[in-house]
Amino acid sequence: MGPGPCNPYPEAVEALGRPLLGHLDPEFLAILDETCARLRTVFRTANERTLPVSGTGSAGMEAAFVNTVADGDVVVVGVNGLFGERMCDVAGRCGARVVRVDSPWGAPVDPEPVLDAARRHQAKVIAAVHAETSTGAVSDIAALGAGKGDALLLMDCVTSIAGIPVEVDEWAVDIAYAGTQKCLGVPPGLAPLTIGERAWERRIERPRSWYLDLGMIGDYTGAARKYHHTAPVAMVASLHGGLGAILDEGLTAAHARHEACGRALQAGLEEMGLKLFASEGHRLPELTTVSVPDGVDAAAVRRALLERFSIEIGGGVGQYAATVWRIGCMGHTARPRNVTMLLGALGEILGR
Ligand code: PLP
Repeated sequence: MGPGPCNPYPEAVEALGRPLLGHLDPEFLAILDETCARLRTVFRTANERTLPVSGTGSAGMEAAFVNTVADGDVVVVGVNGLFGERMCDVAGRCGARVVRVDSPWGAPVDPEPVLDAARRHQAKVIAAVHAETSTGAVSDIAALGAGKGDALLLMDCVTSIAGIPVEVDEWAVDIAYAGTQKCLGVPPGLAPLTIGERAWERRIERPRSWYLDLGMIGDYTGAARKYHHTAPVAMVASLHGGLGAILDEGLTAAHARHEACGRALQAGLEEMGLKLFASEGHRLPELTTVSVPDGVDAAAVRRALLERFSIEIGGGVGQYAATVWRIGCMGHTARPRNVTMLLGALGEILGR
């Protein structure tokens, strides 16, 4: 949500307009190093191997699986929406024997059956999405970390990072990836990723993907600085700028801003008589899902918001395509004025 479809932090946009540096220029390498350090802060990890993978959030997902899963390894995935389903697909393509444990869309992943399946099948990897963007539900990753036993814990935090607390080390997450375009407030194009010692020791020595082989870390971000691929320098500079804006504000303050805006939005929608889709007590502040009222053309309302008010909201996903709206309140757009604008505009369109 916001004026125009894409509204990153000004610092992230400004960085894109600077003269381009070469990908091995010492000035760029200093920016890259500082970006990795800033990523450790937002992931809340001491993992040395923390970097922006060149590719979108899905590249982060693929990198996480292809480096940890070999043919026949059991991967237990807690699925409560589209991105959990994508995890199953990606893990399967890496040769995993996928054990899928479903929770209803809109509800969180239920940790107990996931952990039970992991024990019964001697899983190598347990995977779950922290913030399911398709439904607006948050799941308890700490509970999976506490009960994971010998398995590796793989977390998708594409929509949670910098929007709500993410604690890679405290929750015993072994590998996690994110995206830049959500609460990090940076254009899409990179996938911040962090991998801890346990996962590093058990990684696949020669993964099926050359490009996403995390062994490249030593070449790309480590001291050796050997060429692996040409780093997308403008995108790294943009991520550096966006992270700078967040850390200047303070990570806790950024979380509080998302929380305040999201809850104000949810309260305003309910006051308008609309029904929220995600289960109460498990609603993300940065991504609000709303059931489209009976008789209302969901797509026409989205079009009117965009054309008349320059506000973009998302449609539903899968079977909820025409019956749910998804309203993002993320990164730079998580501001009280945007909440007020959206509520006013939606109220006018719906006549409420
Ligand atoms: N995981 C989650 C939770 C997402 O919301 C998304 C994208 O919205 C992805 C993964 C995939 O990221 P991308 O579309 O940047 O490839």
